[in-house]
Amino acid sequence: MASGGRNLHVSPRLASDALPLPVSVTNKLFLILFFSASYYLMRRWREKIRTSTPLYMLTLEEQLAVITQIASFIYLIGFFGIEYVQSVINKNADEDERPAAQHEIASKRPPAELLGKPLPDNNDEDLAQAVSSGRVASYSLETELGDELRAASVRKRAIELSTGRSLEELPLHGMDYKSIVGQCCEMVVGYVQIPVGVAGPLLLDGLEYTVPMATTEGCLVASTNRGCKAIHQSGGAVSEILKDGITRAPVVSFSSLKGAAELKFYLEDTNNFDTISTVFNRTSRFARLQSVKCLLAGRNAYIRFCCSTGDAMGMNMISKGVQNVLDYLHDVFPDMCVISVSGNLCADKKATSVNWIEGRGKSVVCEAVIKGDVVSKVLKTSVSALVELNTLKNLAGSALAGAVGGFNAHASNIVSAVFIATGQDPAQNVESSQCLTLMEATNCGKDLYVSVTMPSVEVGTIGGGTQLASQSACLNLLGIKGSNPDSPGLNAQTLARVVAGAVLAGELSLMSALAAGQLVKSHMKYNRSSKNIAAAGEQQQQSLDGLRQRCSSS
Ligand code: ADP
Repeated sequence: MASGGRNLHVSPRLASDALPLPVSVTNKLFLILFFSASYYLMRRWREKIRTSTPLYMLTLEEQLAVITQIASFIYLIGFFGIEYVQSVINKNADEDERPAAQHEIASKRPPAELLGKPLPDNNDEDLAQAVSSGRVASYSLETELGDELRAASVRKRAIELSTGRSLEELPLHGMDYKSIVGQCCEMVVGYVQIPVGVAGPLLLDGLEYTVPMATTEGCLVASTNRGCKAIHQSGGAVSEILKDGITRAPVVSFSSLKGAAELKFYLEDTNNFDTISTVFNRTSRFARLQSVKCLLAGRNAYIRFCCSTGDAMGMNMISKGVQNVLDYLHDVFPDMCVISVSGNLCADKKATSVNWIEGRGKSVVCEAVIKGDVVSKVLKTSVSALVELNTLKNLAGSALAGAVGGFNAHASNIVSAVFIATGQDPAQNVESSQCLTLMEATNCGKDLYVSVTMPSVEVGTIGGGTQLASQSACLNLLGIKGSNPDSPGLNAQTLARVVAGAVLAGELSLMSALAAGQLVKSHMKYNRSSKNIAAAGEQQQQSLDGLRQRCSSS
């Protein structure tokens, strides 16, 4: 995601960046001043004509009105509409700059002809031969053919020709390639099918959700479904969003420690926050800077920006805002050299303590009290067995393993399945699955109190893969497709709550299966279909039972 190296692409500066307020506000202000002064002067002019007063004799108010009119006129000539004009210019510049590599590629492009005909007029087999032999560039097929499906089909065949391996089982039809190319995937040859199951209803914060889960792991949906049932029969789960902000941390370097320390003090001085956030917020209607923290490693500074991003997960948005601030900071600290817009303190797609402690994306907590009879009838275990297992496995066991946020049974199973179904970035499963599962006996030991604490659930309902047809259908099932028109950000927060609620259900069910010694049996049943293996599963279960008996008698 992040670009490395010192030659970082610097986004163009706007003349309006010099203004202390956003240009839209100053435009309005000066328009009002200009028209008010003009109106006042015209009234005075009429009055003077009526009373035959010479026009050049100006009172103090009139002099002020003239100065205001001239000043606002100069402003309006200088700035009015400049954002629009510059955005058009910069858009073109962006298009010219962004694909600098593409220009290079274009200049190396083979002639868009094959066998003396324009490429689209050739048959697919000839095209595939030409691609596999390198006479036609594979990456250029979409542009040259102007047909994304045909491009994928030709490329798929070309790969078969060049590798000598069949891709027949990889589906091609049934996908809208227009919505993918240029956004979600390149060099497309088809798509992989992942089954989607549903767990639920999940009763969460008084509402029922049917949770879509894309997975190839047998048992997972069934198990989460059982957890949902236990939660539902106990009156539902409750969730809270404690924090909502994505982070990005560029690394910048100075010639000595002094410069890096000055930057840190500057950034952490609350008097400077307004300026920095104005520069940052200018890049998007939704990105709003929340905080800036700076850590040093020698003469290098790592600046962790945190911002809200509406219903988007927000990585693109925050990167734009951060780039704007870096440009601004460069003027304040000319000695500063931007090494990379991401310096890994972000921390994106890595298991880190910084996310575990500070949070990233949505910090969610979800809890439920599971009634004792539900524990025995639905989960087939006991409150005390669950509490003991949770302590020994999720707390002590994970502590021994040196886990970073891995104090749970299988949060990542549920997180990944919901992420894939709803078009999230599956790689962010790493930190989004950080979870602390707690189980305590409550109501005099009768019932089970269970909670999951997840500080870094990174989700969005707009942007990225969420706009693809099947993923957006899954979001629709949850009633949170796209942008929330009344309260931007609410849909993404609801998705984070649902993820946490589903994790709670998954934790309950797997822990119960473990406590009851059912795990091997159920996996044998759902993960492997052959009867022999099922029989083996039974055998294994018997030996497991024997082992448990031996353990309890010893
Ligand atoms: P990300 O930052 O998660 O990578 P994108 O930048 O790809 O997301 O997509 C977000 C886009 O959707 C932005 O252009 C933003 O202006 C637009 N958008 C529309 N409605 C919303 C909303 N409610 N919340 C966030 N972004 C929104």
